[in-house]
Amino acid sequence: MSESLFADASKRLEQALKYANISEDAIERLKYPKTSLTVSIPVRMDNGSLRIFKGYRVRYDDTRGPGKGGVRYHPSVSLDEVQSLAFWMTFKCAAVNLPFGGAKGGVTVNPKELSRLELERLSRGYIDAIADFIGPDIDIPAPDVYTNPMIMGWYMDQYSIIHRQLTPAVVTGKPLSLGGSLGRDTATAAGAFYVIETLMPKFDQPAQNTTVAIQGFGNAGAHLATLLYNAGYKIVAVSDSKGGVYAKKGLDIPSIRRFKDTQKGLQAIYCEDSVCNVVEHEVLSNEDLLGLDVDLLIPAALENQITETNVHNIKAKYIFEVANGPTTSAADKILAEKGIYVFPDILVNAGGVTVSYFEWVQNRSGLYWTLEEVNQRLKQKMVEETLKIWQIKQEFSINLRTAAYVHALNRLGEALSAKGTRDYYLGS
Ligand code: NAD
Repeated sequence: MSESLFADASKRLEQALKYANISEDAIERLKYPKTSLTVSIPVRMDNGSLRIFKGYRVRYDDTRGPGKGGVRYHPSVSLDEVQSLAFWMTFKCAAVNLPFGGAKGGVTVNPKELSRLELERLSRGYIDAIADFIGPDIDIPAPDVYTNPMIMGWYMDQYSIIHRQLTPAVVTGKPLSLGGSLGRDTATAAGAFYVIETLMPKFDQPAQNTTVAIQGFGNAGAHLATLLYNAGYKIVAVSDSKGGVYAKKGLDIPSIRRFKDTQKGLQAIYCEDSVCNVVEHEVLSNEDLLGLDVDLLIPAALENQITETNVHNIKAKYIFEVANGPTTSAADKILAEKGIYVFPDILVNAGGVTVSYFEWVQNRSGLYWTLEEVNQRLKQKMVEETLKIWQIKQEFSINLRTAAYVHALNRLGEALSAKGTRDYYLGS
């Protein structure tokens, strides 16, 4: 399965090429990652033993700016997965016009099995291993699944120790006290919310009449649940890695959030408990959640959740991809045949990297923005780029995913060609 993730991701590119203004040279360049690094990270465990963890950092493309992308800690992390995530970052940054290329990192580990000190040693060890390949003008890591602001703080500190100078702009998603940006914690959810609010009126789908199921109740999923709940949407189901909860008349999202937050406070920095422990609901599996008869289905956990195997069970009208790569290309085709609209990851979850960009700008300028400024700039960017992608969709009568790739490809193609094209060198 993991072997094919990148091949599957690349298919999205192929579908968009015929609508994009891009040279053959640029297409060839975008088929391959620029740098793929695999490292071994030695960690002294609390019991005195030594364990070696495998880590990765892939810079897919940096034509439009330094590489940008999160670091994932998960037992299933592989080079193939990291490469796919770096590929998506390249197109995401171009789709919303950030001056960044695409990158991603990961460590193959179950962080829930580590103590806090082991987690810190692993995180600092990861930076020791990749320090020569990152930097404010080279490649800038950020959080992803099972990494968080505290880990970003360790990254920044370790990089600064190696370089013997404080370098906040080397990583984003840091704690506020170490140069983080206001609004970064809610940015992915806020960005997705702006996309939903921009596009749903086009389908005549008012909030009060809209039922929602969200898979994944972490940074992105839980914040988005709150925003939608506050705006009047009826969230009927949410889930995390251990299972989900369902209530036909709608879940009380603030009390579920409170529950998760309390557990988190009691149990180190990873929430060990499941949302299944909250009362007044029915329990359902993640598979059941994906098959619910709702208006909006929001995958906000991991990739490869909607596949050829389960796509026939999907009953939602619209799928908003907050997770990266939750739908395989084969499933995409079947969803289109079923008349289900898919709003693509590279647009829907771009709010996170957008506020990461704002954090990098603030670190470099030394001038820090208010929450209102951050949110206003985020909203402006998300709405503007969403409408441009919508326009491309209408112009070519294509789906939104292909339109988002066309939009990104046009920008990437222009930048790659500005370095010199085949026509220029051949004098034609
Ligand atoms: P997170 O670690 O905060 O949360 C992940 C959530 O998914 C947790 O609730 C976890 O329990 C749940 N989960 C894990 N495996 C699951 C499974 N098999 N079924 C159901 N739930 C499962 O991560 P996050 O930052 O919220 O990221 C979620 C997704 O959003 C990822 O695909 C990530 O790449 C994407 N994303 C996140 C950001 C960001 O800024 N956080 C930005 C862009 C994209």
